[in-house]
Amino acid sequence: MPKLNENYLNLKESYLFSEITHRVNSYTKSNPDKKVIRLGIGDVTLALGPKIISQLHEGVDALAGAESFKGYGPEQGYEFLREAIVDYYCQNGVTIAADEVFVSDGAKSDTGNITDLFAQDNIILIPDPVYPVYVDTNIMNGRNIIYINATAENNFLPMPDHSVHADIIYICSPNNPTGAAYNKDQLAEWVKYALENDAIILYDSAYECFITDETLPRSIFAIEGAQNCAIEFCSLSKTAGFTGTRCGYTIVPKALNFTASNGAKMSLNAMWNRRQTTKFNGVSYIVQKGAAAVFSAEGMAQCKANIKYYQENARIIAKGLAQKNIRYFGGINSPYIWFECPNNMDSWDFFDYLLNNAQVVGTPGAGFGKNGLKYFRLTSFGNRENTIEAMERIDKLF
Ligand SMILES: *Cc1c(COP(=O)(O)O)cnc(C)c1O
Repeated sequence: MPKLNENYLNLKESYLFSEITHRVNSYTKSNPDKKVIRLGIGDVTLALGPKIISQLHEGVDALAGAESFKGYGPEQGYEFLREAIVDYYCQNGVTIAADEVFVSDGAKSDTGNITDLFAQDNIILIPDPVYPVYVDTNIMNGRNIIYINATAENNFLPMPDHSVHADIIYICSPNNPTGAAYNKDQLAEWVKYALENDAIILYDSAYECFITDETLPRSIFAIEGAQNCAIEFCSLSKTAGFTGTRCGYTIVPKALNFTASNGAKMSLNAMWNRRQTTKFNGVSYIVQKGAAAVFSAEGMAQCKANIKYYQENARIIAKGLAQKNIRYFGGINSPYIWFECPNNMDSWDFFDYLLNNAQVVGTPGAGFGKNGLKYFRLTSFGNRENTIEAMERIDKLF
């Protein structure tokens, strides 16, 4: 009999979104006449921009000719895309090199797979509430996790506790689920903490394109010293609506060098390169053609128009909650609005209440950690009409 990875027994029984699907399906089954509005799962709804579509088509056409045909590409991504990403960072005032960029099929895979590079006995620091991938992938590897509380008191932006040591720190800013975003001084303190502790920050910037406050950093590498202590994950899922198309990228600075127990020098950039070339065969040429178009002036303008549309939805949701005197967070530099459940309700009770009485689906905060027990997340990724209707229904509720 094979010995199984029994760490899987330590995972929570049901994944958040399957439980939501289950409850929504059983509701619609018994109420087939009711129109349910889904503002739960963080998936985009608008079509890809025409510039991106035309480049995806070009990618397909290339495969039709013997001369232009593409087989296996570089595991790290085509040079044209890695250079486009370097330029994008440069426009935001951040200098990175093309061989520090690794193109992938998305940030979920990379934030999960990065655990391959680290030994089991690291102390992992994860904010609560959080994107469940960070927690579950570390549980699968049997690692020790310590949590840091993100609460209304700290505006859901926890700061380092210098009396507690960690080796690996997860930060997601702008944050899923809370919508909170760190400013430069706050991130600088995290970088300082990481350098003092000889730790690594795993920084998820999947929502950087939602930042409207120009003073906020879009990359951890906007902070001095971060190239010595951070890996950054980003994705075209939210930037460009690639949730189904699949493309992301991870920046692993060449300055990330550590000394092994036998004295050998180990480079995280070289390790990630080795990990990817061993276990991953790259993103399709077609998708990379579309991804490169995202970073063209025309493509980016089209992506920004979509983001603007979602931001208007966020404003509508926030305004509706404010009118009901509900305390909310996020929604300005983030597509997510995170709010206290009315009447001190628990988040799953509020989920059922909202589904049964307003036919609006959101995400219970409990699914993101214990500090989410009394919170609820709505997303701005729906269409305008549904967002307006959902808020009208909520307005009439109580
Ligand atoms: C949506 C999201 C991502 C993107 O994941 P992909 O696999 O690239 O689609 C990454 N991190 C967080 C926190 C997210 O919410």
